[in-house]
Amino acid sequence: MSVFDKAITQVLPAVPRPLVRRLAAPYIAGPKLDDAVRVVRRLNDEGKTATIDVLGEEVGSADEAGEIAAAYRSVLARIDDEGLDANVSVKLTGLGLELDEGLARANLEDVVDRANKLGNFVRIDMEDSSTTDAALRIYAELRASGRSNLGVVLQAHLRRTLSDVPGLDNVRLCKGIYVEPLSVAFHDPDEIRGSFLATLDALLDQGSYVGIATHDELLIGEALRRIAARGLTPEHVEFQMLLGVRAHRGDELVRAGHRLRVYVPFGTHWYEYSIRRLQENPKIAGYVAADTLRRFKIPI
Ligand SMILES: Cc1cc2nc3c(=O)[nH]c(=O)nc-3n(C[C@H](O)[C@H](O)[C@H](O)COP(=O)(O)OP(=O)(O)OC[C@H]3O[C@@H](n4cnc5c(N)ncnc54)[C@H](O)[C@@H]3O)c2cc1C
Repeated sequence: MSVFDKAITQVLPAVPRPLVRRLAAPYIAGPKLDDAVRVVRRLNDEGKTATIDVLGEEVGSADEAGEIAAAYRSVLARIDDEGLDANVSVKLTGLGLELDEGLARANLEDVVDRANKLGNFVRIDMEDSSTTDAALRIYAELRASGRSNLGVVLQAHLRRTLSDVPGLDNVRLCKGIYVEPLSVAFHDPDEIRGSFLATLDALLDQGSYVGIATHDELLIGEALRRIAARGLTPEHVEFQMLLGVRAHRGDELVRAGHRLRVYVPFGTHWYEYSIRRLQENPKIAGYVAADTLRRFKIPI
């Protein structure tokens, strides 16, 4: 990213909400579960699988957290009714982690048990580093209680990540999007890539199922080399991408015989997720500038 792009991402919170919503529209299925179902069906038709995310984080009350858990139960039922090839991703803050870890765990158990009854799977998204210990603890507790239809996420940018690998059976590996201090996270892009690959190797060495979640061509290439060298199949690994990002690259991976899962968020709480996606879009500065010129009716 250029210095200009970086400056734009820092002022994103000041960008008017209607513009954020418009720019982020490709990343979100829509406000309703019907929207997610429509998008997942299209992805399935393209040979891709999906993970559905109900947008909503940092809830203010146990009731709100319970509503998110209920929304996930509805998503799981709908996946089953429609015969979709999709699982779900949950955020522990959405299930009440900031209010009470026990509440979040109970809500998660509820969702995981419903998924289990329907032969489905739940992944705990990883949020900022203040939640990493709790997420790994809850994952370990639920797995130890016999719930094997549960996975977690590791973020390569965190310095601790390689040491978190032992014992994790089912992991999505990503770079990590939350802004973290240098004391806990690598900031240098090459160090983050190095950590991603070291973590990927460690996970594959211990036989974990890995969701390789990146759009970074260098990392995709390195992952493909490892898949070929180790003779891995979709039983061992899958690629994962975000809705609205590098879909053509996803098509190529599918054509080459790899399993590709697309992250499909839906819901009315779109703002925080949208800001995170816009921060990563290398073309964001141009889009914001063009829109600003349009609003001031300056020809472009
Ligand atoms: C399926 C999935 C689940 C994820 N879950 C989590 C999670 O639980 N916790 C977490 O912290 N992070 C999560 N992430 C986000 C992840 O940590 C990265 O922030 C994100 O994927 C961007 O990193 P990258 O590896 O794609 O590399 P980048 O270097 O950021 O991107 C590589 C290239 O991809 C394209 N690109 C990337 N993002 C965009 C965008 N928004 N718009 C347009 N083009 C783009 C650009 O061409 C860019 O050059 C997830 C990512 C994926 C794919």
